Amino acid sequence: TRQYDKKQLQPLDTQPLQRFDENSHLMRVNGPDGSANYIWESLPLKAEGWTLHLLRKPQFAFEDQRNAGLAAAGSWLALVFLVLFLTQRWRLARLRQRSRQELERLVEERTQALRTAQDGLVQSAKLAALGQMSAALAHEINQPLTAQRMQLATLRLLLDHGRVDDAYKALTPLDDMLTRMAALTGHLKTFARKSPSGLRERLDLATVVDQSLHLLDARLRDESIGTVLDLTRPAWVRGDAIRLEQVMINLLRNALDAMADKPRKRLEIRLHADQQLWQLTVSDSGGGIAEEHLNSVFDPFFTTKPVGDGLGLGLAVSYAIVHELGGRLIAANRGNGAVFTLTLPIALETPDLC
Ligand code: ADP
Repeated sequence: TRQYDKKQLQPLDTQPLQRFDENSHLMRVNGPDGSANYIWESLPLKAEGWTLHLLRKPQFAFEDQRNAGLAAAGSWLALVFLVLFLTQRWRLARLRQRSRQELERLVEERTQALRTAQDGLVQSAKLAALGQMSAALAHEINQPLTAQRMQLATLRLLLDHGRVDDAYKALTPLDDMLTRMAALTGHLKTFARKSPSGLRERLDLATVVDQSLHLLDARLRDESIGTVLDLTRPAWVRGDAIRLEQVMINLLRNALDAMADKPRKRLEIRLHADQQLWQLTVSDSGGGIAEEHLNSVFDPFFTTKPVGDGLGLGLAVSYAIVHELGGRLIAANRGNGAVFTLTLPIALETPDLC
């Protein structure tokens, strides 16, 4: 009476339609605005002496139920998609890793094959150069052999006549000639040796030039080549002496070949430091390289020499060797000849690691 201002309250006109349990019914309520069905739930609060009634429209209840169902289905779907997504990602990652491994294996295989091919190329070019040099060498060795045979005959005569002092004197040139021949064959042996690729010893580039000139000494003298040497010593680099010697010999032989039919034969070899690099130039007076050939001279099998004389491998192999050592080899024309510039990093004074 206090709460509703003494208004006359009519109890609701209800009519149970269906009973769910003790406190829950489907109820028809006839109110002033017409009748409607409700799900009627009651909760007695014993301590307070009250009863709480909750009236809900049945379609809301069904909607609630449906919404809950939909939400559950949505969650499940999201979970399924998440699992699918993660599985897919994992599969992709595995595929990517497998193809990367496959690629790495292929690269490794190809590199190995290339290295083997390059080693083979270097070796066959060395052998070809050796073959071409053998004629000059036979000449170089035959001459002192004949001289030595004559000197031995003289020696025998001197000893027959008891001239021991003269015999001793006659031994000196014999000794010199034998030493020279031994040096020559020694160089040839190292030149022809198959050296493991990747050797990086600390060596003097000027000595490499000396050794190469020594090997071609006979040809330089026979063809009356005017040689200018301007070398900084020592010129420390890291590399493989035998292979660098092969590069030098290739450059020198090409210069000599180019000057073969020229009246003026002048060979210049200079070695200087330029910042962190050694610059070695080999220039000649052989008429130079035709402009259209400047880009091809380093290609394997490019040669302008007659069949049988040139293999076209010398510069290709030299280029490969120099690049492997972190250097560069460039061809150009200067004056009335060609100039080849070999650049190699200066080796610092660190202890030899090889
Ligand atoms: P090959 O000597 O067997 O021909 P190379 O690779 O050593 O092979 O040289 C390739 C070509 O480069 C030579 O045939 C020549 O035409 C040219 N060439 C190399 N060096 C010189 C040079 N100093 N002067 C002129 N041409 C040169």
